[in-house]
Amino acid sequence: MSKKKTSIRDFSNKEGQLVRLDVSQFPPLPPPYDKLDEEYSIKPLSEEAQKKFECDLDGVIAIKFPRPETDEEKKVLIGQFLSGLKKLFEKENNWTFLQPLFLTMEYCAKCQTCATACPIYNESGKLDIYRPTYRADILRRLYKKYVKSGGEFFAKISGNDIDVTWLMIARLMELSYRCTICRRCAQTCPIGADNGLVTRELRKIFSQEMGINVDPLHKKGSVQQLEKGSSTGMTPAAYLDNIEFLEEEVEERVGMKFKWPMDKQGAEILLIHNAGEFLAWPENPEAFAIILEKAGVDYTLSSDLVAYDSVNYGVWYDDVQFAKVALKHLEAAKKLGVKKILLGECGHAHKALTVIADRVMPGNYNIPRESSLTFLRDLIKEGRLKLDPSRNDDITVTLHDPCNMVRLMGIVEPQREILRAVCNNFREMEPHGVHNYCCGGGSGFAITQDANFPDWRHNLASRVKLRQILDTFQDIIGPEHKKYVCAPCSNCKGAIRDMFAAYGVFERCNILYGGLVELIVNAMTDFDKEYLEWDWH
Ligand code: SF4
Ligand code: SF4
Repeated sequence: MSKKKTSIRDFSNKEGQLVRLDVSQFPPLPPPYDKLDEEYSIKPLSEEAQKKFECDLDGVIAIKFPRPETDEEKKVLIGQFLSGLKKLFEKENNWTFLQPLFLTMEYCAKCQTCATACPIYNESGKLDIYRPTYRADILRRLYKKYVKSGGEFFAKISGNDIDVTWLMIARLMELSYRCTICRRCAQTCPIGADNGLVTRELRKIFSQEMGINVDPLHKKGSVQQLEKGSSTGMTPAAYLDNIEFLEEEVEERVGMKFKWPMDKQGAEILLIHNAGEFLAWPENPEAFAIILEKAGVDYTLSSDLVAYDSVNYGVWYDDVQFAKVALKHLEAAKKLGVKKILLGECGHAHKALTVIADRVMPGNYNIPRESSLTFLRDLIKEGRLKLDPSRNDDITVTLHDPCNMVRLMGIVEPQREILRAVCNNFREMEPHGVHNYCCGGGSGFAITQDANFPDWRHNLASRVKLRQILDTFQDIIGPEHKKYVCAPCSNCKGAIRDMFAAYGVFERCNILYGGLVELIVNAMTDFDKEYLEWDWH
């Protein structure tokens, strides 16, 4: 990997793979992962894949876009891209995000404070193309040349011209999937420029104008969710079957008989989980059910299409898909007549249904929404659960702060108040709170499983999180100590699970990951049995 600058001229015109990743240039990991020859590697694509798919950025594929075969095809794609670029800066076509995008394009002091905050850039050994402003500078040059009046003339005389070639567009397409939209850069920018938003808006051009997106987000994500009811493919009938099965599982686990309140008209609260929880980590929605039952909360789940899955992947790449899914969530709440929607442990669902829905939904759909973190904290403060933190004494716990709940929404203390109430051995990782680092799975990366993209994610995007976790537990890193990373977000759990599996973290260090509610139930004195099962899944 070369640390030298990669010029925008090369980005547009230099044939072949633009940069090569070299793990030996990445900042080292602490023990027991401090031996380079044991490093998890980013596997090169097969020759066949290289020929077939666009991969001329860094030899990694997130999108799997077939290379266009003729000049005519390339010309059409370039035309679509430029048309989408113009729409991005039109009020009638982008009233949702035009203002912050416009400000980001117009104002940048080029101080590079954002670069020092970006985990992808730093963990890559400061590879120029991953710098937050690299992506933004390309969009800024395009904006100045093609959107502003007299732009083409000024581009030529300013020395900031950009050649719009298919190669440039293909690389930009992949580069928009090398940022987790963690917005650590935006937080540090002294003038409020948002390079995370730049990533998201670039993806929007590709998706809305060119039909280019990542399959797990679009086809198997938003589209499947709207057609079948869930991005997992779980239909309403399958969901109801599953729910029944999980009720029996709770009885087996802790001996509590209960029926999940389903489609209960006039309930106070509609609880929506990320449906992936029911399949991958059923102990999480089960723990919610136990807590709410014991605290006597009047709530319901919904079995309506989409309303049992809080996932909304459009938040990362497409306004239209976003609005369709958000509307379904809000319609279900309206139909049931609930007073508010409660969001389970899913970070991007928090962002989608609170911060972003506020920008796009008409007033009569503005049903109050609340995070489960504040809601659960209040239940505990009101003394509605019988807790004994010593029941968690055999584990040492640290907390991962999901970017969307913490940096974006400012929910910092509630989860800590809960942890202090349910376990005695809690330690912070550094940095934490609003200065946290992303798990590496943000912006859809946790579910992007094609080609060698997962290798890139484990080795690079999740690298800083792995380092933080290992550093936090370094004095008890041996497998004789039980350690738990509490990650109250489905997406973060997925990324941490896959990264732990890639490095063998559970086997080598005995560090398990999981949600917050599982720790709460484990501390509840209502049950004789332990709730937390110390096994890998
Ligand atoms: S921190 Fe803000 S002003 Fe400084 S280079 Fe980054 S985007 Fe520009
Ligand atoms: S949003 Fe996060 S990953 Fe993306 S450029 Fe900013 S700091 Fe880097």
